[in-house]
Amino acid sequence: MKVLIAASECVPLVKTGGLADVIGALPGALAGVGVEARVLLPGYPGVLSRIGATPMGSPGQGVDLGPPPGVDPAIAGAARLVEATVDTGAGALAVLVLDAPGLFDRTGGLYEHGGADWPDNAERFAALAQAAAGIARHGIVGRGGARGAGPWRPDVLHANDWQTGLAPVYAAQWGTGVPTVLTIHNIAYQGLFDASLAPRLGLAPAGFGSGWEFYGELGFLKGGLMAADRITTVSPGYAREIVTPAFGMRLEGVLAARRDRLSGILNGADTAVWDPATDPAVAAPFSAADPAPRAASRAALAEAFALEDTGGPVLAVVSRLTWQKGIDLLLGALPGFLATGGRLVLLGSGDAALETALGAVAAANPGRVGLRIGYDETLSHRIFAGADAIGVPSRFEPCGLTQLYALRYGALAVVARTGGLGDTVIDATPAALAAGAATGFVHDPDSAAGLADALARMRATWDDRDTWAAMQAAAMRSPVGWGPSAAAYAALYREIAAA
Ligand code: ADP
Repeated sequence: MKVLIAASECVPLVKTGGLADVIGALPGALAGVGVEARVLLPGYPGVLSRIGATPMGSPGQGVDLGPPPGVDPAIAGAARLVEATVDTGAGALAVLVLDAPGLFDRTGGLYEHGGADWPDNAERFAALAQAAAGIARHGIVGRGGARGAGPWRPDVLHANDWQTGLAPVYAAQWGTGVPTVLTIHNIAYQGLFDASLAPRLGLAPAGFGSGWEFYGELGFLKGGLMAADRITTVSPGYAREIVTPAFGMRLEGVLAARRDRLSGILNGADTAVWDPATDPAVAAPFSAADPAPRAASRAALAEAFALEDTGGPVLAVVSRLTWQKGIDLLLGALPGFLATGGRLVLLGSGDAALETALGAVAAANPGRVGLRIGYDETLSHRIFAGADAIGVPSRFEPCGLTQLYALRYGALAVVARTGGLGDTVIDATPAALAAGAATGFVHDPDSAAGLADALARMRATWDDRDTWAAMQAAAMRSPVGWGPSAAAYAALYREIAAA
């Protein structure tokens, strides 16, 4: 079973959020269940340099496969496909990179620059989708790279989020015969563009009114949802939520109509990368069987953020700073928590207003609130290893990864009851505590009072050391790996390939 996974981000090459972690980890997990996956990515400068290729120049380690099949030169300009193998730290990852310097060789964000979307995002990601569908249609012939020569054509094309949402549309329009899956990692981002772009992107006019058209605009995600043979999202909870107006962000009707094609498959953590027993960022290795050395990471975190010793727990947040993530709710609930000796460590970046508000709270609470504005992968590992609890107060959360990393690293999770958060954290109810299953404190979403209550429960449990230790042990034993989910994807691929 061969699968082409098309996406706009992938760890360890390029990451702005959880999508990248998932795309980087899933292929390795799929290999364990007999699926050979290759990942198609845009040729951002960072991606090309990490695979040892310069844009359209000397091929370096990457193998130049020539012009990408399916990609319209009128959109992409000069372009080639580069094949490479990447070491993820957990194994080898086979990637195909669309090197189109006119679209991707630029400095700035992946999707925006200086706060504004790149004006040619439609062309950039239509070309990526064309490459995905083109590979599905024609296959590719290796040039003697790590995998040797010979054509490679996927049995299934797996697109992800709006950036590759048009891949199932082109695949259907071109009659590739290759079945398609589209995974929604976050329905808030839909890829909406002026409908007049459609002819330029080679989209059949029939799509207007039935396919890619979305309230008069061209919707990349909408088109993909209509065209894909199967739709998945990253947790069963989010799959239930997105067919409702409160969470569907205007796509609830489309999804409800295709409910028989929609399922939720939980994301996992890459347990080879996220392993406190081998993680070089951790102050001293620890594990569920031997949690005591975790104290060294706890002390290191307090020192790194100059925290006072109040005797209370350290709550940490590692997050994009956006409305979705409920950081404003955290600011509302924080004074009560700090008043009981609680402390906060926050690593994140995003909305300027939230950054400013957090800066003010940190300045007003030295030794109690430690703040790092920015993006720092290594520091994030240290935080999961050293914090007592992690907070994820999201208003909606398709799956959420930080709570999975926290559980594996022995931090209890304080999370909103939404999407994948509710699917992955077991609330400390009397029954769950009695069963030894509780791993965190779950609260009503979109409620500062609900969050405050969960923080108060966490704070009270902190004083009951035996209960805390039992919850921490349960957290570290939580099944956060990819095993069952990789098997679920493999079963889905096999089902649609056989149909
Ligand atoms: P989302 O994809 O919505 O941002 P997820 O929880 O699914 O949320 O994934 C976020 C990923 O990005 C996690 O791996 C998290 O550790 C990481 N992350 C978020 N913000 C930062 C940051 N400022 N520094 C380091 N890692 C971060």
